[in-house]
Amino acid sequence: MNRNEKSPFCFREVYQDQRSFLELEVSRWVYSRETSFQKIDIFDTVSHGRVLALDGIVQTMERWEFMYHEMIAHVPLQICERPKHVLVIGGGDGGTIREALKHPSVESAVLCEIDRDVVEAAKTYLPTLSHALSDPRVSCVFEDGVAYLKGSSQTWDAILIDSTDPTAGEGGHLFTDAFYALCRDRLVPGGVCVAQTENPIYDREWMRTAYRRIAAAFPTAGIYLGFSPQYPSGFWTYSIGYRSQDGQNKPDFYQLSPEAVRRIPPHLRYYTSDIHSAAFQIPPFLSDYLA
Ligand code: SAM
Repeated sequence: MNRNEKSPFCFREVYQDQRSFLELEVSRWVYSRETSFQKIDIFDTVSHGRVLALDGIVQTMERWEFMYHEMIAHVPLQICERPKHVLVIGGGDGGTIREALKHPSVESAVLCEIDRDVVEAAKTYLPTLSHALSDPRVSCVFEDGVAYLKGSSQTWDAILIDSTDPTAGEGGHLFTDAFYALCRDRLVPGGVCVAQTENPIYDREWMRTAYRRIAAAFPTAGIYLGFSPQYPSGFWTYSIGYRSQDGQNKPDFYQLSPEAVRRIPPHLRYYTSDIHSAAFQIPPFLSDYLA
């Protein structure tokens, strides 16, 4: 079949600008379900492995998800000094939890996912992402991340916000000033919060809004970049906030101590200490826009 012919069976994601699209040739449809929160679709593709989509938006591609999940988890967990208690908000496919548990210092990890059906579907159809959810250190809570933090006084070494887009379903609750301030207050001194904050090509306004709100909530804040072929443009951003301890602001995010470098989990496929430092190098077109 030549490249211009439309293949018999394709999944199409419409990007934020409504004028750009992602089209994936589907080899087998695996699962679909309308939950009380969103439409869950799981399907096998010819080129990218199994895909999870929510309300028509790709959440994860089995072949490339490691890039995103390593960057949302290991950058903050390497900045923390020996993180013990980790909270993942969203993240129902289990990929972020899987990466967090690669740190031996982690004693407990809570997954706060609003839609139980996403977790159940991931456990059944996406075992390469969800297998760590059965680890005894993990507990799953099925509720809105805002309500969970408001209802719990527990504090965390790291809060990782692996949400859907701000314009999708319940994701918007997780991009507000009040929510980021709540995350700050639920961190231990020296704790770190990271949120996926979209991309500068199709979602630049939301990216800037989310980053500015995190920068307003945390005395020490930053943004870092990572490749993520599964998402629009493949150019992904993560905004990070640090809760200072005894008034000391974190000297810098991008310089890992030699001890932290020694702690990097083995066998990662994207994250390294050099990638960590390079991720905080922001090109002028982006830093100008964020200023
Ligand atoms: N890594 C993906 C990305 O960046 O697009 C997101 C992964 S995960 C599938 C996103 C999850 O966030 C979804 O399962 C969704 O149900 C959950 N979610 C959305 N809003 C939420 C909220 N307010 N509280 C908790 N979970 C939420």
